[in-house]
Amino acid sequence: MPDFLPYGRQTIEDDDIEAVVRVLRGDWLTTGPSVADFEEGVARFSGVAHGVAVNSGTAALHCAFHALAVGRGDEVIVPAMTFAATSNAVLYCGGRPVFADVSPQSLLVDPEGVEKCITPRTKAIVGVDYAGHPCDWDALKSLSEKYSIPLVADGCHAIGAEYKGRKVGTLADITVFSFHPVKHITTAEGGMAVTDNPEWARSMKVFRSHGITTDSHQREKADAWQYEMVELGFNYRLSDVQCALGLSQLGKLESWIAKRNQLADFYRTQLEHSSVQPLVCASDVLHAYHLFVVLSDERDALFKKMREERVGVNVHYMPVYLHPYYQKCGYEDTVCPVAEQAYSRILSLPMWPGMTTEDVSRVVSLL
Ligand SMILES: *Cc1c(COP(=O)(O)O)cnc(C)c1O
Repeated sequence: MPDFLPYGRQTIEDDDIEAVVRVLRGDWLTTGPSVADFEEGVARFSGVAHGVAVNSGTAALHCAFHALAVGRGDEVIVPAMTFAATSNAVLYCGGRPVFADVSPQSLLVDPEGVEKCITPRTKAIVGVDYAGHPCDWDALKSLSEKYSIPLVADGCHAIGAEYKGRKVGTLADITVFSFHPVKHITTAEGGMAVTDNPEWARSMKVFRSHGITTDSHQREKADAWQYEMVELGFNYRLSDVQCALGLSQLGKLESWIAKRNQLADFYRTQLEHSSVQPLVCASDVLHAYHLFVVLSDERDALFKKMREERVGVNVHYMPVYLHPYYQKCGYEDTVCPVAEQAYSRILSLPMWPGMTTEDVSRVVSLL
């Protein structure tokens, strides 16, 4: 029987393991220097001033909405085609996600649809760089300026991607990354929010650590024992062990994105005369290819067949408001017809940097 080919998986090399072991042998397992090093590394890579490391991408979204003061009664516009965490984090803050539909060719949020969702209660607009392809950030930015509403990028699919020569990280007011093992680089679990705004960065750092204004490292340096809890925060900290892994992985990110693009090109040529159709890629972006998504009228049959053949295809995503919890929250009348139609046709094919062109050929021949 052939090996199971997952849709995504981590790449861990000897130097990654050594980086983790060095921290395990040292003094700081958490709140130590590796956290700041990793934050600086990701911020510099993404072209922004500040990084706030947290223990998941979901926590990073929560920090971002908290920093933007999303609260009870506030609305946040979120694309229907995303992972539930994007809108769950709005609910954590007491806000109400308002779902915007996507464009049929790219499944990226449609800026015209976003504009129709704006009300006096809109507190933030979220773009999701679905599959690793940046949204139409120029259009979202002009809405943001026209209505004075901050922009959040859920960049969990898109670290390292570029839009018109600008890096994901610089396109929204706050950008959020995930370091889950299926994402581009991993810390096992982990995430980060990046921003140029020092006030939001400070607010997110307080929120990730119980709402306390100093950490133990700062107290030790300042030779003081006092700390003050100024608001109700969480323990969302990412450990030094994990940050050491992340920093080691970060050095490989560019080459892994190049590899993902090679695999995508290979998929595209091989699929040219097939019945499945890859999502479009604009000529002015560098795609990060977290996912390689195709559309098919026989999606369910293909899914079943591929799984029988031990190919780990997947479906990303069911429009969020169709989940039972959201239906219970009263979203049964929400309709994003493009996202709903796409949901019955999308299939994510295996895509990760350790894959070979033979793996791609195996997938394509089965299709
Ligand atoms: C992975 C992901 C998240 C959540 O990240 P976690 O690190 O798993 O919490 C949020 N949004 C999108 C679009 C994601 O793909």
